[in-house]
Amino acid sequence: MAGVPRSSLVVHYAEIGTKGNNRAFFENQLERNLLEKLEPLGRFKVELRDQRLMVSNRDDPEALKGAMAVLKEVFGVAWLARVVECPLEYEGVRSAAVSELTLLKDTANRSTFRVTAKRANKSYELSSQQMAVKLGDDLKKATGLEVDLSNPQATIFVDILSDRVLLHSSKERGPGGLPVGVTGKVVHLLSGGIDSPVAAWLMMKRGCDLTYVHFFVSPSAEQILETKMARLLKTLSRFGIGGGRLILVPFTEYQVATGDLRPEYEPVVFRHFMRIVAEKLAHRVGAIAISTGDNLGQVASQTLYNLACIDAGSSMPTLRPVVGHDKSEIVKLAETIGTYEDSIADYKDCCSIVSRHPKTRMNVEDVLAASLRYDFPVLAEKTLAKAEAMKFDAHEQAIWVEPLEAAPRVKGSELKVNLEND
Ligand code: ATP
Ligand code: MG
Repeated sequence: MAGVPRSSLVVHYAEIGTKGNNRAFFENQLERNLLEKLEPLGRFKVELRDQRLMVSNRDDPEALKGAMAVLKEVFGVAWLARVVECPLEYEGVRSAAVSELTLLKDTANRSTFRVTAKRANKSYELSSQQMAVKLGDDLKKATGLEVDLSNPQATIFVDILSDRVLLHSSKERGPGGLPVGVTGKVVHLLSGGIDSPVAAWLMMKRGCDLTYVHFFVSPSAEQILETKMARLLKTLSRFGIGGGRLILVPFTEYQVATGDLRPEYEPVVFRHFMRIVAEKLAHRVGAIAISTGDNLGQVASQTLYNLACIDAGSSMPTLRPVVGHDKSEIVKLAETIGTYEDSIADYKDCCSIVSRHPKTRMNVEDVLAASLRYDFPVLAEKTLAKAEAMKFDAHEQAIWVEPLEAAPRVKGSELKVNLEND
């Protein structure tokens, strides 16, 4: 390999390693996703080596710092580290390790160390143990630092690959999960609340590529550009692929058509309708499931009986990833992801219009009767015909609203608002 020793990043993935024959598919998606996130930061190279991804930037090695901050959030990444790549010859490894440990001694005041070696390349001249002992001795002589195997102040990690040796002294955890895109497309119901953005993040963690849908009460879709929905889309796009797309669906058609519905039926019947619209959208965008931020027992509309009513007659699964979380856990995740502040900001949601006193045990028959009476499949088509798409281009930091096409994707024109100074 040319140009060694050189600084780069090593990215380790977790679950992908167990995916057998599909491993290449998972690795390729992760590689693509890393490149997409790195694109705004400069010209990076990503290459697969011995089940790790190596990230380098020939023009500007300093750009690796920014790259590390971005890649640490990418699903599929178990951990990552800034590494020195050395040739296989022991002498090169020794001198790079001396520089690394000397730096730790001088800048971070470290006085004890250990070497932890791992050998992916089984034909290498030294075993892991032999490398650790030999390098430990040489580092002790060169730096004057003491070896402490049980509680070292510094650890030099040595990773022996087929064509190079990687050295590093610290690593950072990634979010784990699967690369976005590997499990398929899902339509996600996004409200302005705390739960549904967190649910979106959890769906992406399991590799789902999300198209968001939001029912709004404002007079026009353009007005949503000025609300927290645009900011939530922007934040969530950091974790997804291909920019962000939020389908804005007006609530008015439904409101007018169902004016005489019994108030205590409203919350569940409306959620049933939202699910029908989401399914129709799913067929258009090639999604094969719906997801929501529903919990269980958190609010009156979320009893098991009512969730069964919402799902009655569906043709695809509805996934509810926050069901396993308490509210306090969801709030904590929202803070970590960066959606909490926007979620608690003022916003007029359609759920604040429908009755706040739902039946906790709706009958499936009553919900299906309402669907028949108001002809929900046709009403859903009519509603979708008025829907528009909000799109966010992460590279350009631009967000805009455009008519909804048959297969919504990022990139387009019309009404661009720059969010850079948001
Ligand atoms: P959230 O905090 O996500 O709003 P919530 O606990 O307030 O959740 P509900 O308001 O009952 O619960 O909503 C349940 C789920 O229904 C939401 O998580 C979301 O997936 C979906 N939902 C609610 N309102 C809307 C909306 N206006 N547009 C799209 N989806 C919605
Ligand atoms: Mg809500």
